[in-house]
This record gives sequence, structure tokens and C-alpha cells, in this order.
Amino acid sequence: MTAVVSADVVVLGLGIHGMSTVASLARRGVRVVGIDRFPAGHARGSSHGRTRMIRRAYPNPVWNPLVEKAFDAWEGLERASGETLIHRTGGMYAHEGASQLQGPDCILVEDRGEMASLMPSFVVPDGYRAVYDPSAGVVEAERALVALRTLAVAAGADVRDTEQVLGWDSASGGVQVRTDRGVVRAERLVVAGGSWAGRLLPQLSDLLEVWRILTVTVRAGQSAGIPPALGAFSVDRLEGLVFGIPDADGNGVKLGVDAGEVWDPETPVAAPTPAEVDALRDLLHAYVPALDTAPVEAAACLYTMTEDKRFVIGPLADSPEVIAVSACSGHGFKFGPAIGDAVADLCEGVERPDLDFISTARRGI
Ligand SMILES: Cc1cc2nc3c(=O)[nH]c(=O)nc-3n(C[C@H](O)[C@H](O)[C@H](O)COP(=O)(O)OP(=O)(O)OC[C@H]3O[C@@H](n4cnc5c(N)ncnc54)[C@H](O)[C@@H]3O)c2cc1C
Repeated sequence: MTAVVSADVVVLGLGIHGMSTVASLARRGVRVVGIDRFPAGHARGSSHGRTRMIRRAYPNPVWNPLVEKAFDAWEGLERASGETLIHRTGGMYAHEGASQLQGPDCILVEDRGEMASLMPSFVVPDGYRAVYDPSAGVVEAERALVALRTLAVAAGADVRDTEQVLGWDSASGGVQVRTDRGVVRAERLVVAGGSWAGRLLPQLSDLLEVWRILTVTVRAGQSAGIPPALGAFSVDRLEGLVFGIPDADGNGVKLGVDAGEVWDPETPVAAPTPAEVDALRDLLHAYVPALDTAPVEAAACLYTMTEDKRFVIGPLADSPEVIAVSACSGHGFKFGPAIGDAVADLCEGVERPDLDFISTARRGI
């Protein structure tokens, strides 16, 4: 006998965007069921790993209001959970020639002495300039997902792991979601399926490409990697931007490259090979030479890319009871709690014109 339950909203996917949406809805008293096909903390998607970078320096001012909401939402989550989730370390973003990066309090730094005084351990390549963002820093990603889940469950959310959504049907103004364990009837379905979004929502499939992304993390506690000696950083290169996250709170310095091979998320993402690890260690040697890079913790993860690196969020034109949340392109985590609040608003019929620049409507879907 198939179990049938009813709720106001079903959220598919419990990565940072799905879990933030579940927590925001539950704390508003909405009956919400959150479903993920893998166990909590799994490493098959895009939200695993201890840390992420947060910054105000963005390439287009259209992002600035949402970036402000992101910082506010993290502060709100810290208050609600009693956890420290953000470490402000400052961030330096090196580039050749002119940079689009801008944002409140961000400054252009051209003098190498000034670069060294702002971030002593970071070696900016010769001939490069940099944008310095004093409010950039580190997000405690793993801790944030636990905090959101704890708040969601405490507020009455039905959070389910290792249950797969197989499909859904629109039913009398709502939706009937079929899983490998039963059926959930609800008014709305939020699809926050990360790298599976293109499979789950054919309307998005032409817009999205999934990349395998590699990172290395070195031994924690090295003074050269700890703020203020090192903050968040990046180096813009033709072969792909290098990003670095400092060792705040004993997480170790992490480095990765914003480029990778196209990957099918149905296949577990392959761990970095020894040669790939060596290449990342060489980058660490180049940009933070004082760090001891042996041993390293190497990891693989998935980006879901759009061509313009803008997210795709909003109801689907052909089934408005379904809300798509595809917010990655390698920079979505920092927006998690703010996007969760925004999607909860959309579920409650609250208009969010501030999301127009990242909406489904903008893409005609
Ligand atoms: C290496 C790396 C470094 C990054 N660094 C940064 C950074 O510094 N700053 C930043 O802001 N962002 C960063 N990002 C991007 C950020 O991590 C992602 O944008 C974000 O995690 C995406 O979250 P999500 O919830 O959309 O996807 P996911 O976390 O992948 O969640 C989607 C979930 O949907 C579930 N799912 C899929 N299909 C089904 C189904 N049929 N039934 C049930 N469940 C299903 C999956 O199991 C998965 O858990 C980085 C990403 C990577 C990979």
C-alpha cells in the first residue's frame, strides 16, 4: 500500500538551496517535506566540504542587492543557530588588465607593497593588479547545513534522506510527487536538484552544463595560511580562475580551479588523480609559497554552470506550481540562506522583483 501524505510544499534536494528553503518555510509554520536521494552530508553533489568563500566583490552591480541580502541572511542564521558560520578575512582578487569586480568598500590595489601589507602570504603574479574586498571571508559550509537542518526539524519540517523523487504530476492546482517510498501531495514543489536539475527539469537542460571541480586542502594550523596573513583570494587565468580559501577556525587552506571536464552527475564524481593533485599543489606553491602542501586532502565536487553564470530561479511558465532553483555556476553557496528565504516567499505567493535578473521568466521558461 503506497503511503500518501500531504503537505503545503515539497522540496526536492537538501543541498544548501533546498535545505535553506525547507528551514525558511518550516520557520514560517508552513508544512514542508524535504527529500534527498542521498544520506545527509553526502559528497555526490555541490554542497559538501567544510568551507566556501563569501565576498562582496562581484563583476556586475546587478548582484549587489542580493549580495547584501546574503550577508544579512547569514547573520540571521548565526543568531538563530548560535553558531559561528562566517569568518571575515578580507579577500584579494588578482587579475591582468582591467577587472569588472566591484562592490561596497572594494578597492583597486596596484602597488605590490600595499598588496603585501594587506595579505602577506599571498603572492600576486607579476604584472597583475588586484581588487581588495574587506568584507570577504569564509563560510562554515558543513556547519551551516547542520544548523539549517536542526532549525528545520525543530520547526516541524519532515526531512527525509535516501529517498529519491521519481517524478511528479500536476493535480488540481497542486502537485503529486512520487518517490521510491510513496507519494506526497502538496500545493507547490520546489526543485533544488543541483547538478540533476537539467534531468529533473527538461526546460532547463539546454541552459546547464555540469563540471567536475577539484580542490586540495592542506594541513591546518600553518601561520602562513591563517588570517590576517592570508585571506580569501583568486587569480584570474586563461586556464581557469584559481580560488583560495584561508585557514579560518582550523579548516586548513583550500585551493581549487574554476574549470573542469563535463560530468554526468549520475556517475559518482571521480576523485582527483595524483597528477591532478600535484598540479593543484603547484598552484599553491606559486601563490602561497610559505605553505607546507604535504599531505593534502583532495576532493571532487560538481558545478552546474550557466553560460552567463547567472542563476535560474522561479516558477515554470508551463507548470507554475513547480519552482526551479538552480543557483550554482561555482558561486551559489554564499547566497543559500537568502535564496531559501526568497524561494519561501515565492511559495507563499510573495512577488520578488529583485530576482528578475536571475529568474526563469528572464530565460523564457
Ligand atoms: C569545489 C566547489 C567550490 C565552491 N566554492 C564556492 C564558494 O567559495 N562560494 C560560493 O558561494 N559557492 C561555491 N561553490 C558553489 C556552491 O557550492 C553551489 O552553488 C551550491 O552548493 C549548490 O547547491 P545546491 O543546493 O543547488 O546543489 P546540491 O548541493 O548539489 O543539492 C542538490 C541535491 O539534490 C539531490 N537530488 C537530485 N536529484 C534528486 C532526486 N531525484 N530525488 C531526491 N533528491 C535529489 C541531490 O542528492 C543533492 O543533494 C563551490 C562549489 C564547488 C563544487
